[in-house]
Amino acid sequence: MIGAGVTGLTAAYQLVRSGVPVRVFETAAQVGGPVQTEQTSDGWLIESGPNSLLLGDAAVTRLFDELGLSARLQVAAGSARKRFLVRKGEVLALPTSPLAFVSTPLFSGAAKRRLLREVIRGRGAPRSADVSVAALVAEHLGQEWVDTALQPFVSGIYAGDPSRLSAKHGFPQVWEAEQRSGSLIRGMLAGAKARRQRGEPRARMVSLPEGLHGIPRTLAEKLPTEALSLGTRVDALRRTADGRWTVRWNRKGETGDETFGTVLLALPAGALACLEIDEPDHRPLGSLQSIEYPPVASVFLGYRQEQVRHPLDGFGVLIPESERCRILGVLFSSTLFPGRAPAGCVGLTVMLGGALHPERGRLAAPDAVGTAREEVGRLLGVVGEPILVRHRAWPQAIPQYNLGYDAFLATMESFERNHPGLLVGGHVRDGIALSACLSAGLKLADRALALRRPSGPVG
Ligand SMILES: Cc1cc2nc3c(=O)[nH]c(=O)nc-3n(C[C@H](O)[C@H](O)[C@H](O)COP(=O)(O)OP(=O)(O)OC[C@H]3O[C@@H](n4cnc5c(N)ncnc54)[C@H](O)[C@@H]3O)c2cc1C
Repeated sequence: MIGAGVTGLTAAYQLVRSGVPVRVFETAAQVGGPVQTEQTSDGWLIESGPNSLLLGDAAVTRLFDELGLSARLQVAAGSARKRFLVRKGEVLALPTSPLAFVSTPLFSGAAKRRLLREVIRGRGAPRSADVSVAALVAEHLGQEWVDTALQPFVSGIYAGDPSRLSAKHGFPQVWEAEQRSGSLIRGMLAGAKARRQRGEPRARMVSLPEGLHGIPRTLAEKLPTEALSLGTRVDALRRTADGRWTVRWNRKGETGDETFGTVLLALPAGALACLEIDEPDHRPLGSLQSIEYPPVASVFLGYRQEQVRHPLDGFGVLIPESERCRILGVLFSSTLFPGRAPAGCVGLTVMLGGALHPERGRLAAPDAVGTAREEVGRLLGVVGEPILVRHRAWPQAIPQYNLGYDAFLATMESFERNHPGLLVGGHVRDGIALSACLSAGLKLADRALALRRPSGPVG
């Protein structure tokens, strides 16, 4: 196994559970990739990468049961169902009932009528060619829905540009809704009904009391100690005469070779692209280097409650591009999962950067913090100095499943065909959400088990 993010660790755990010896190589000093949490001695809990996990997948739920995590899950506060959107500088709650929808000033009368018409008419003929999610939604609902609702929502998930993100690969549920019903709204409702009929539980937004890093940490703890090599980068793989694979690793300048029947690659695109395979300077996944990964910075700000005028009674604030804010959005971290700030204090997580403004994701820490402070001051009525500040930059945060992503997926498929025994999975291929990566790890393990030679370890 190369890569000890949630994908790689899940695959490794599943293999160990099936009695297969594994080795896991991870270049960083800790497991989890971007899933990193800090707990301070005075009662703050800070997520520097992902903040929540949407748990709906039955196989992932079973995995959590086995790991003993299900009983400890912290489900997001009920108030977090309320989300805010900025419109003409004001922070307004998104409607959660038909009555509130009719009266909300967030959307124009024309946009509301267009939405109702879409339910009745839909689009007509099913499409076969991929299209950007912005173009697809504009066709069904008009540009106002793209600008005021879709774009800030997409910023919150992908930190992406909806006019470039693929509907088919980036938003499969939206794509399938259209394929199913011709209407996005009817299709989404039918999809939800079908999931209920299949007995799938309603997805819940969750974390752990110790934060999301508890997931990779628990997975890593279930592996034999000698299985995991931290601080160990894999640079090359060589095929042996009997069709196995030798992994060439580098740990602080020391190098070594280990041979496996099957090797799982659960890596970001840039790392996959650099892997030298079979012979010197041969990089069959080199084209993945051009997958767009915009930088994102996460700024955590802790305040005393009385410093913040807004009641923070929700999930957070989504911000349309047209509002000319310099941040992607704000999460009300201590409302979403209570207990993450000392008594009388609140925590906010501000995201900056992304595909539309990558330069903001690269700001030096003082500038990023300054920008975040100014914007939350303006939007939420925050005054005075924060009592806690954390900044974390992710130079390559989230892969953008942009139009044309089929070519990258095809490269990974043909790579596996041409290199029997090497398997690729994770956020570059199977979806970017944590739950998709956990599920990808389970599938990688199943595929490795199907391929496995009788007694060889998996690397
Ligand atoms: C800022 C941010 C916020 C996010 N928010 C959310 C959220 O709220 N909810 C959600 O569901 N998802 C969120 N995500 C997405 C989610 O966290 C990721 O998609 C997921 O963690 C990826 O897991 P992975 O195991 O596929 O890849 P990674 O976690 O990237 O794991 C790959 C591992 O490979 C290692 N590696 C790289 N090169 C080598 C090499 N040559 N040799 C050995 N090891 C190597 C890396 O160090 C890394 O640990 C967020 C991501 C970011 C960056």
